[in-house]
Amino acid sequence: MISRAKSEALFAEALNHIPGGVNSPVRAFRAVGGQPFFVNKAKGCRVTTVDGDELIDYVGTWGPAILGHAHPKIIKAVQDTAAHGTSFGIPNPLEVTMAKLICASAPSVHKVRMTNSGTEACMSAIRLARGFTKREKIIKFDGCYHGHTDSLLVRAGSGALTFGNPDSAGVPAAFTQHTIVLPYNDVDAVKAAFAANPGQIAGIIVEPVPGNAGLYLPKPGYLEFLSQITTQDGALLIFDEVMTGFRLALGGAQQRFGITPDLSCFGKIIGGGLPVGAFGGRAEIMDCLAPLGPVYQAGTLSGNPLAMAAGIANLEELQMGGAYGQLEELGQQLAEGMSSAAKAANIPLTVNHCGSMFCGYFTSEPVWNLADAMKADRERFKKFFHGMLNEGVYLAPSQFESGFISVAHTPADIEATASAAAKVMKSL
Ligand SMILES: *Cc1c(COP(=O)(O)O)cnc(C)c1O
Repeated sequence: MISRAKSEALFAEALNHIPGGVNSPVRAFRAVGGQPFFVNKAKGCRVTTVDGDELIDYVGTWGPAILGHAHPKIIKAVQDTAAHGTSFGIPNPLEVTMAKLICASAPSVHKVRMTNSGTEACMSAIRLARGFTKREKIIKFDGCYHGHTDSLLVRAGSGALTFGNPDSAGVPAAFTQHTIVLPYNDVDAVKAAFAANPGQIAGIIVEPVPGNAGLYLPKPGYLEFLSQITTQDGALLIFDEVMTGFRLALGGAQQRFGITPDLSCFGKIIGGGLPVGAFGGRAEIMDCLAPLGPVYQAGTLSGNPLAMAAGIANLEELQMGGAYGQLEELGQQLAEGMSSAAKAANIPLTVNHCGSMFCGYFTSEPVWNLADAMKADRERFKKFFHGMLNEGVYLAPSQFESGFISVAHTPADIEATASAAAKVMKSL
């Protein structure tokens, strides 16, 4: 059992001053019941709670911690940079380094603009796609999450999905009337949408490997199809790689699946744990942004030196090589471990994984889209989640989130996780 006294006292105080006690809803543990624990330090693949328990962490601050927590190079980069100032509001050299790193890693990105979050990146990419094509409609997919922007918060994944009210209050219907929502992995649905809206679709925004409703993979040929139909129609293909960028390969899902999107969104890993986002793509499109073009986009802290320093350290370390091969192996080991744990306990579990991302759905059927994911037994997930926590393993507190492995996880950590899963599955 993990200890709770200090976390409980902090949460009681937090509830008085922060809505729901948290600054982002999934952290409140509503999907699994109970209360969140508080963490005040983390190192490698482990987080330490304020009550002193060390947990093997598969949340990895929701993706950024691909090198593990408190990587010495990132900490040093932030400290060294902070000594010279925390923000200048005028170009700084680190912005150029960061832009070059992103463009070199994802060749579809010729130019890139930094933002402060993935939400801003997606919001701005959509505006840019509309400004460039002079069209208004956007296609998004069920269960894909592109941040909490009004027009994209329709049947979205992540917290919005977990709480069963994907459409947020406070979003006027008029703001989403140009958003067409389709099931993922369904070619005919996309064809029908283009046929019904000729010359009106500005673009498709998609998580190439959706990781905000658990995790499901594109069917063979699906991403190629999205690329072809957008090209034929004069619409743009926007890959939201906020989660998959620098995660599934140095060049993200687009490298892994060999697709060239028109625009890409990044976040999470490129900030090395500091608040960052970015969007980029073909130069002719990106040059429509202010100050060159008519599409306005800005940010007081965009390109912030501390965030750039942390991100650059993260990306440079990943560029050195070795990380992705290691992550593939660890991902494979964990997927096999979870599957055999379920089999031994006679529990139906569909394990989806891609590189270092994974999700075990408590269902016997394959999961290719949101409708499939919704068939998972969430009551069973709740018990599994708390069982794993008591064994010292921290999984995302929802059936509809992807897990993340870092290079700081060792085969022994994965083995320990699989053993914990075997024990917990037997008790379900
Ligand atoms: C996390 C995420 C976002 C939003 O990024 P924030 O930094 O939380 O605003 C957008 N798209 C995807 C695919 C994400 O996983």
